[in-house]
Amino acid sequence: MNLILLGAPGAGKGTQGELISAKLGIPTISTGNMLREAMANGSELGKQVKKYMEEGSLVPDEVIMSIIAQRITEADCKNGFILDGVPRTLAQAEALDAKGIRIDHVVSLEVDDAAITQRMSGRRVCTKCGASYHIVNNPPKSEGICDLCGAEVAIRKDDEPETVLHRLEVYHASTEVLKSYYAGQGKLRLVCGNQPIEDAQQDILKAIGETV
Ligand code: ADP
Ligand code: ADP
Ligand code: ZN
Repeated sequence: MNLILLGAPGAGKGTQGELISAKLGIPTISTGNMLREAMANGSELGKQVKKYMEEGSLVPDEVIMSIIAQRITEADCKNGFILDGVPRTLAQAEALDAKGIRIDHVVSLEVDDAAITQRMSGRRVCTKCGASYHIVNNPPKSEGICDLCGAEVAIRKDDEPETVLHRLEVYHASTEVLKSYYAGQGKLRLVCGNQPIEDAQQDILKAIGETV
């Protein structure tokens, strides 16, 4: 099962990706998490993408495609994978098709902009594994500590309100078009992301034909 999770920043892609990953036993591939890790390591890639990430703009397509092309060949992807936050432009979607990477379903998590801006102010992410939490809606079991790996959770620099507004603009200008692209291929599944996390999860599993 090869899945794409589409949706505005903060729609719940990371949260739902982790849950589907645990349920289906296939990895989540989050370009955002991979790039944040590269920045934390101070690698060449990290230095190259820092400016884009901090201002909430898109990292160039070539950079993203080379990361993805490599990651998908790793052994843990042989039974499938969940792409979280990629593709984000038409060029990235076309590049996946051109490389012959089969996609089975594209789930678009639908949340309106007003709900997103509220949500982002409470987001906390694990500084090590990237798991996503919310101080009210989905807090870690022990305050400030990631349930999955025990590292600290922190506010993401690009989650400040002004940057979130810019990221929403970028989503509408460059990413939303992917809904019609994948609808044209008969792969688009719309799921309401503005409902409790568990309910959205059930709807996603139904939409991709998994028994709940
Ligand atoms: P969110 O989950 O809030 O949508 P991500 O963690 O997916 O945020 O992405 C954070 C930032 O990483 C983006 O604002 C962008 O700078 C960069 N990024 C992540 N994935 C991509 C991609 N597929 N194409 C271009 N830039 C990306
Ligand atoms: P994305 O990966 O799409 O940027 P996240 O999964 O990081 O989104 O979710 C953004 C924020 O919203 C996080 O703080 C997360 O805990 C919270 N969240 C996710 N899904 C829901 C939901 N269904 N209802 C309320 N809050 C949610
Ligand atoms: Zn963690």
